[in-house]
Amino acid sequence: MHVASVTDAEIRMTLEVMVDVANGLIEEDLDLRRVLSEAGFSRAPDASAASMRRAEQRMAQLLPFLRELGELDVATAATRINGELTELPITPSIVDHDDVGPHIHWTPSTATFDDQFIADVLMSLTHELCDNGTIRFGRCGADDCERLFYDATRNRSKRFCNDPRCASRTHTADHRARQRAR
Ligand SMILES: [Zn+2]
Ligand SMILES: [Zn+2]
Repeated sequence: MHVASVTDAEIRMTLEVMVDVANGLIEEDLDLRRVLSEAGFSRAPDASAASMRRAEQRMAQLLPFLRELGELDVATAATRINGELTELPITPSIVDHDDVGPHIHWTPSTATFDDQFIADVLMSLTHELCDNGTIRFGRCGADDCERLFYDATRNRSKRFCNDPRCASRTHTADHRARQRAR
């Protein structure tokens, strides 16, 4: 029996951030420090420029994998994630800081910010793969949009990225096509 928990909420939040970062890379308008600071990564505001740059480079290396993730079977995705995990200094611990309540850190406090962030992303992907497989990951259904999405809806109904213009202009185009077909 799977129970919604603080950890589930955190995993979902991290996956949403991962998708936002991937979309920033795709659209070439990523401000990683801002995205991660706003998402509540407590070390993001003060992380070194070098570590922030490495975090961005490491996400760029993951991007081709994230783009195709929704079409991969779990075993293939797991092989890739397992390979990435072996590169990281993962030593889980329960921590409590900044009044957020007890939660898991996957890396030691001595880890670089980029190691901590990438470990968060990969461990969230690990949980997601074990719980739901790869079906919640998708690419926007709008014609000229390359952005990705993570679909947390119960009935798996998401077709477009989080940019509301993609859904509305596609519906408008569908409507016009139906009118022409009359
Ligand atoms: Zn923390
Ligand atoms: Zn879109």
